[in-house]
Amino acid sequence: MPELPEVETTRRGLAPHVEGRRITGVVLRRPDLRWPIPPEVARELPGQSVLSVRRRAKYLLLDTAPGSAVLHLGMSGMLRVLPARTPVETHDHVDLALDSGRVLRFTDPRRFGCLLWQPAGETHELLAHLGPEPLSEDFDGDYLFERSRGRKAPVKAFLMDQAIVVGVGNIYAAESLFQAGIAPGRAAGSVSRERYARLAAAVKTILAHAITRGGTTLRDFLSPDGAPGYFEQELFVYGREGEPCKACGRPIKDGRMGNRATAWCSRCQR
Ligand SMILES: [Zn+2]
Repeated sequence: MPELPEVETTRRGLAPHVEGRRITGVVLRRPDLRWPIPPEVARELPGQSVLSVRRRAKYLLLDTAPGSAVLHLGMSGMLRVLPARTPVETHDHVDLALDSGRVLRFTDPRRFGCLLWQPAGETHELLAHLGPEPLSEDFDGDYLFERSRGRKAPVKAFLMDQAIVVGVGNIYAAESLFQAGIAPGRAAGSVSRERYARLAAAVKTILAHAITRGGTTLRDFLSPDGAPGYFEQELFVYGREGEPCKACGRPIKDGRMGNRATAWCSRCQR
């Protein structure tokens, strides 16, 4: 599943080809993806220029004067800018034709992705209750400390709660907690301010690194191992259950939290 770094990499790859371009046509090859595609997409977009390509959490927003197309890649979605005559394949669901003679093509075999509409000046319901961006100044140790007081939920679940901070998926949560030396099952409310400062710094470092690793082409973000944007040999705990900890040598623990795999080192993380 594309995570925040892959979505940001996609945004950076798309922006130079899409921003400032006029949308000359919209082709919807089916009426829905995960949800129905609202009629405004085909009605409002043609003739509009794309003012900016933004990311919020794992959503991409194509801003135009009347509103924004809101895209989510779901489990298997892919956005590419292609020559207009590129043959259409089975899972190519949406084309936005651009005045450059190219199309922005949305491909999604499993159709967990979405294409929605946000009128100018409004915030779509899906985006309305999200926490801050992890790479923004609003996200730091003090913020995590304040929000976590009185919470008994495991710190890993707290960190992956989109209402607390967006875009910290399983891999990035596991690696950040290792780097900060915090056991994933510890109650969020019992972690000190100092340790949350280390955790916030680790989240930022790891996500920024993954974005750098995201590569320069639009296809790079899709990788079959489920950890795109990151090289396997760079991981300390994620996917390394039973292997020796790179810091202390003790086997990496294998646990489950909710329905998610959770890997951690019981010596390095307390
Ligand atoms: Zn260790």
